[in-house]
Amino acid sequence: MKKFNFYAGPSILSPYAISQTAEAVNNFAGTGLSLLEISHRSKEFQAVVDETNALVKELLEVPEGYEVLFLGGGASLQFYMAPLNLLKSKASYIDTGTWAHNAIGQAKLVGEVEVVGSSADKNYTYIPKNYTVSPDSDYFHYTSNNTIYGTETLQTPEVSVPLVCDMSSDFMSHPVDVSKYDLIYAGAQKNVGPAGVTIVIVKKDALGQTGRTLPTMLDYQTHVKKGSMFNTPPCLPIYTCLQTLKWYKELGGLKALEKLAVEKSTKLYDEIDRNRLFRGTVATEDRSRMNVCFVMNDEYTELSDQFFEFAKGRGMVGIKGHRSVGGFRASLYNAMPVEGVDALVACMKDFEKSI
Ligand SMILES: *Cc1c(COP(=O)(O)O)cnc(C)c1O
Repeated sequence: MKKFNFYAGPSILSPYAISQTAEAVNNFAGTGLSLLEISHRSKEFQAVVDETNALVKELLEVPEGYEVLFLGGGASLQFYMAPLNLLKSKASYIDTGTWAHNAIGQAKLVGEVEVVGSSADKNYTYIPKNYTVSPDSDYFHYTSNNTIYGTETLQTPEVSVPLVCDMSSDFMSHPVDVSKYDLIYAGAQKNVGPAGVTIVIVKKDALGQTGRTLPTMLDYQTHVKKGSMFNTPPCLPIYTCLQTLKWYKELGGLKALEKLAVEKSTKLYDEIDRNRLFRGTVATEDRSRMNVCFVMNDEYTELSDQFFEFAKGRGMVGIKGHRSVGGFRASLYNAMPVEGVDALVACMKDFEKSI
């Protein structure tokens, strides 16, 4: 039976990225050696880093003055590294979910944090609007897509200070005006590659201004100076990212991917709204294109496990909602084919008929 992978992360990758990686694990770039055993200083691997870097810049139209980095430690390390490098006196944050909350916690270890809004009062089912960011803040940090709750900020926030964004789970799913950001970071395992590498895009001029003496590894400047090669980078994850990015380019880039994301998520939300058994969990205007969260309608809550088993029997993998939301979450990252969404929708329709 064909399986459809709806996991939230690590998550679906294109068959192209997986097969290219498998091939390189056996024989990397015609070297007769495995990607797993090649020196990161070899010219063949340097070419991989250079090409990945160039493709990130090309796809996102990254302007001059920015550097792309491939770091370890996950997005979670960036929660601390970002304020350490950029927070001089005060930073503003918005609390839209668990990850945003964690980022705030880490920033507070570094300096003053202004939390301009929070949707914790309603279990993060919406994105706060009409907040004000102090003009004397060093930056405004937000989480563009809240992976656990299924909300997404699609419009770049209009604030008077530079932006810092955790884009882990909607990175490369639509065009972004990078010039508005001092820093963008994304754990690769949601939309670009396997776990192990975090892609960071940083404005060089924003660095080195805090007066802090930073630990070498936590200083972006270390990695900027050495082109992500200060120490051994996550070689295999970077290689897989490169294959994914090549595939994204082949598909037509971020505009084409956005169109696909709109098509897939609309199909699924339409079915959730139509089907008498289900309902969405978040404010309609804040619905995420990447992580679609839904539950059984009130009269049918006892059917949850039954639907889960029914869907599993039809090849749907990973649709259990996060424990802090319950119900279901179908992650529709870039690599999810429309066919997968159609299969899930058909599954929901057939389950409704059976009740
Ligand atoms: C998954 C996720 C994280 C955590 O990423 P790690 O790589 O596990 O540290 C942070 N932010 C968002 C938005 C995520 O989806």
